[in-house]
Amino acid sequence: GEKGIKRSCQTVLYWIPVIFITLIVAWSYYAYVVQLCIVVYLLAYHVVFILFTWAYWQTIFTKPMNPLKEFHLSYSDKELLEREDRGESQQEILRRIAKDLPIYTRTMSGAIRFCDRCQLVKPDRCHHCSVCDKCILKMDHHCPWVNNCVGFSNYKFFMLFLAYSLLYCIFITATDLQYFIKFWTNGLPDTQAKFHIMFLFFAASMFSVSLASLFVYHCWLVCKNRSTLEAVRAPAFRHGADKNGFSLGLSKNFRQVFGDEMRYWPFPVYSSLGDGCSFPTCLVNQDPEQPTSPGHNPPPNKT
Ligand SMILES: [Zn+2]
Ligand SMILES: [Zn+2]
Repeated sequence: GEKGIKRSCQTVLYWIPVIFITLIVAWSYYAYVVQLCIVVYLLAYHVVFILFTWAYWQTIFTKPMNPLKEFHLSYSDKELLEREDRGESQQEILRRIAKDLPIYTRTMSGAIRFCDRCQLVKPDRCHHCSVCDKCILKMDHHCPWVNNCVGFSNYKFFMLFLAYSLLYCIFITATDLQYFIKFWTNGLPDTQAKFHIMFLFFAASMFSVSLASLFVYHCWLVCKNRSTLEAVRAPAFRHGADKNGFSLGLSKNFRQVFGDEMRYWPFPVYSSLGDGCSFPTCLVNQDPEQPTSPGHNPPPNKT
């Protein structure tokens, strides 16, 4: 029907930024390897290129994680909730359900965070993405450049994608510089390569600037253990909003995203800690109403 056509059009549209980036990268490969072709640089170039495209691929094609079954309302709870039309009695039901879940965050007004669309009690740091139309665990943002939600399942890949794409651009800029200067001083033979060498330098240096700012910002977020959404609006706990609510110190914050094993840090393979539904917080003990059973959430002092 009409809705189906609209949806397929949207699906095609959403891939345009990814196709755009892929075409630029493919051209940059052609320009560097075939046209510029500085043999001594080619080995290092390919190492960076492979890491960059691998991380990009993983960020695009790793499915975002959705809340586990235990966060979804049971059939009887759904019926119960539907029958109540007052917000307060609905909250009563949700509070009862949330009691058995490892949840520490609340809405700004202190209510249980509930997704009407998915009919579930939102785990901590989980948000509903309007593009994916799903609740995404530790949602960071919906990224059009990868046509995917960046969240718990692929945040490490996204960080590596930023790091390696930046490295890729800096590498090209640095090694292309001398030929770029020769171009302006008319020291280059007038061939087709001239055009590619010039635009390679422009594109790589321009992307370097924008990627560097994004990368620095996300490094700061990792160090502070905040998602982009949490940086915009601090998560609220029972005692109120606290922008540092999930921060466990620099080393533990980094390990939550990159894992405990150093040998996995540079590669876009999954190594993040935790299950994405519950997160250790130093504020657990200030929340007497919530369970702290080891089955549900790790002890606050251990990651
Ligand atoms: Zn939802
Ligand atoms: Zn999304």
